[in-house]
Parts: sequence; structure tokens; C-alpha cells
Amino acid sequence: MLSLPTSYSELVSRVTTGGTREVFDPATEELIGLAPEQGTDVLDELVAKAREAQPAWAALSHAERSDYLMKMADAIEHASEPLAELLSREQGKPLNGPNARFELGGCVAWTRATASFGLEEETLVDDGETRAVLNYRPIGVVGGIGPWNWPLMITIWQIAPALRMGNTIVLKPSEYTTLSVLALVEVINTVLPEGVVQIIPATPEVGAAMTIHPGIDKITFTGSTATGKKIAASTADTLKRLTLELGGNDAGIVLDDADPKAIAEGLFWGAFINTGQTCAALKRLYVPDSLYDQVCDELVAVAQNMPMGVGLEEQNVLGPLQNKAQYDIVANLVQKAKDGGARVLLGGNPDEDAKGFFYPTTLMADIDKDNPLVVEEQFGPALPIIRYSTLEEALEEANKLNVGLGASVWSSNIERAREVAAKVQAGTVWINKHGAIDPRIPFGGIKESGYGVEFGVEGLKHMGLPQVICE
Ligand code: NAD
Repeated sequence: MLSLPTSYSELVSRVTTGGTREVFDPATEELIGLAPEQGTDVLDELVAKAREAQPAWAALSHAERSDYLMKMADAIEHASEPLAELLSREQGKPLNGPNARFELGGCVAWTRATASFGLEEETLVDDGETRAVLNYRPIGVVGGIGPWNWPLMITIWQIAPALRMGNTIVLKPSEYTTLSVLALVEVINTVLPEGVVQIIPATPEVGAAMTIHPGIDKITFTGSTATGKKIAASTADTLKRLTLELGGNDAGIVLDDADPKAIAEGLFWGAFINTGQTCAALKRLYVPDSLYDQVCDELVAVAQNMPMGVGLEEQNVLGPLQNKAQYDIVANLVQKAKDGGARVLLGGNPDEDAKGFFYPTTLMADIDKDNPLVVEEQFGPALPIIRYSTLEEALEEANKLNVGLGASVWSSNIERAREVAAKVQAGTVWINKHGAIDPRIPFGGIKESGYGVEFGVEGLKHMGLPQVICE
């Protein structure tokens, strides 16, 4: 068994050994280390090992596998400071606020919760003539492909249910956050049997190779809708099981009975968590005429007091964009909003000469409902605030896009909020909060935000194969 790393430098030296690709801190542009990159020959080896390890893992009981998950959670908890530091340096997110330390806390909480769910045999029919029972069996080897925004938590969302259900897993992390995920797996593998969790640091092409690999039985993918569609097409030939957690453009609807001051902080963090680089962040806010100016003023008051800066500086709660491509997407969309006549309430004026991919916290008012900043996923710290006159109009706007991950309704009247929520097209609709995911509650998208769910007992079922025994 490997020992747990005790410091940041030990952790980094373990995961950069043999590395070739330079990895830079997106806040300071300093070199962090060299990431290894492996090819499809290594993929074949890892899949073979995962297949070899799977029967013994599946032969354990749920209670035994849950014990392993509990040990995994303890190991992550012990190494959480060095992991948070590496995550902050590589991804850019600050240590504090709902960021790096929070993400490590989420990894621990999700692992423990996933270990604790009961999954009983279901008796479907038992009428004296027919008896039918339903169980969920292991799928085999799962391939997990992940993004760069919440790289550790999303990796845990893939590993924990896969393992709990008796599968082994081969992971391909995003090329933007390879070191952090390698480090997480290094920590986890101090307590797991060999071959159960493996990782291949690699390019998107190796991800594509996983989707057609005959030794992989299921792909669980979190990332963009464009890549999700490619994976849906390429897995068709082997009919692999598929979970797709894809992009979103979540709407928030403020009702005319809401209290602007009371909701401002919730709205802010709903939109700006992880500096806006969150799949289920509030990405377009619809506000009635009667409250428009008040909501704008309250949001500015909250937003202008949130420090943005280098992740390792303890006071910061907002960080840089993770990469230049994402910075350019946000900058271009804000420029299009300005060109379209939107009013800048805050931000919108990046310092092009400063180090790092920092884009200032930006609030845009009086924006056209079809402006690209409204209808495209910005995935960064820029929120468009759209004015509406009637609730029907707000619902029509909220529902008109071809994505549907999350959404939210903000109101002082819970009954009314529930009625409106039921009319919003999204996998989850929150009331008076946004993006409040919970390990006990299934989460997944509709429309082009994907299919399948994660979390809770429903999430476990998606990592198993339903089997009916009928007599
Ligand atoms: P991306 O699709 O560019 O990349 C995700 C992963 O897919 C990476 O590991 C990449 O190497 C790999 N990949 C790329 N092409 C591939 C191919 N053809 N076959 C297999 N794998 C391939 O996404 P990203 O930019 O890393 O992530 C941002 C996006 O992810 C946003 O749209 C965001 O909304 C979405 N996201 C969704 C959720 C969710 O739960 N629904 C969570 C986080 C992020």
C-alpha cells in the first residue's frame, strides 16, 4: 500500500514524475509542474487491469464496498489541504469561498453519502401466481471522462457510485486539470485494492478511444454538449451504457413579490460560484419591471464587495478563468452585450496587461433577450439581467433554449413559487436558491443538457444494470 502524501510538494512530485507537458497557474502564469501524457497503448493496459480487478470487487458485498468508500473519504480528508492547494494553483479557484477547500469538503461528503445509501431488492409483483424481483447488478468497467471546472468533485461523482455498485473505473481527466485529478487518485489508491480505480492523463483523442473501447461497458461523461453529442454517436456501435452531464444556460426568474435585498446574496452566489465556471450556475436572470432597479442595485452592492485575485491569498473568493480559451469566450460575449446596447452595471473592463486570466465580476442590465450573452453559455463571471413585463413572457424566455440543466424561482410566496417552478423546463428547479446540489438528491439535465442522473439512490441505479428475476 502507498502512504498518504503529507505536503503539497510531496503530492506534486508524485504526480509530475515522468511528466512532459508544462502546467501553468492561471492566476500567476507560474509553472506548477509537468503533466504526464499517455496514449492508447496505456489505455489498453489499464482497461485490461480494470477487467481483471472487477470480478473480485463485484464479489464483495455492498457493506464491504461501502467500508472502502468510507476509507477513501478519510484519506481525502487527511490530504485535503495539499489537494486544495494543488487544485487552487492548477484550476485557479481560491482556497476560500465556495471554491477549493469547499470542493474537497464536497468530495468527502459525497463519498460518505454514497457509501451510506440503502439499495434494497425491489419486489415488483408477488400475487401468488407471479413473483418478480428487481436488482441492480454491476455493469463491469466504467470509463469516466471529466471537465476542468470542478475536477475533483466531478471525479468523485463518477468514482463513488461506480465503485459502490461493483464496477471498476478508468478515468480520463481534462487536459486542463490533469495534476489535481492525478493527485486525488493517488490519495484514493492508498486505501483501495489495485486496479479498481485507474487514471490515464491524456488528450481528447484518448477520451474518444475510450468511447469505442470494447473493454469499457459504460461511459459517464461530464463536459460540453458538443462533446456529449460526439460521445453519444461513437458509443452507439458498442451500445455502451451512457450518462451525459452536459452544458447548461440556467435561467433564474424573480417573481414580483420577492424581496430584492433578501435574495441578492443567493442570486450572486448562484451565478458567480467558482467565478461562474459551473454547469448549474445561474446564467441569465429575469426580473420584473416593478423590481428591476432594486434587484440591480442590490446585486451590485453584493458583487462589488467580493474580492477576486490569486487563489492562494486567503481573502479571495473569486479567481481567474481557468484558461485563455474560456477567458476569450467571456470577453467576446460581454463585448457583444455592449455592442448590442446593454448597460454595464459593474465590471466589463478587463485589465489586458495584468497577469492571469482575470475577468472582472460583470453585471449587464437592459440587455436584449436574444443577445448572445443571454442565449449562449458564458461559463464565467458575467451575468445578464433581463427585464420582463408578464410572467408568461418570463417563462417563455426561460424555456425557449435547447438546454435544461437547472433553473430557479425567487419569491416570498412559496406556493406561487412552486406553481411557477413546475412550468420551468429543467432537470432541477430550485426555489430561493440556485445550484444547491445535494448528494441525496438526483441531479441531471433534460434537452441538450444530457441524460441520466447522478447522486442518491437513483444515481446508484445508473451505475448498475437492472435485472429482473421472475418466477
Ligand atoms: P469538454 O467537452 O471540452 O471536455 C470534457 C472532457 O471531454 C475532457 O476530458 C476532454 O478531454 C474530453 N473530450 C474532448 N473531446 C472528446 C471526445 N471526442 N471523446 C471523448 N472525450 C472527449 O468540456 P469542458 O470545457 O472541459 O467543460 C465545460 C463544459 O462542461 C460546460 O459546458 C459545462 O456546462 C459542462 N459541465 C456540465 C456539468 C453537468 O453536471 N451537467 C458539470 C460540469 C461541467
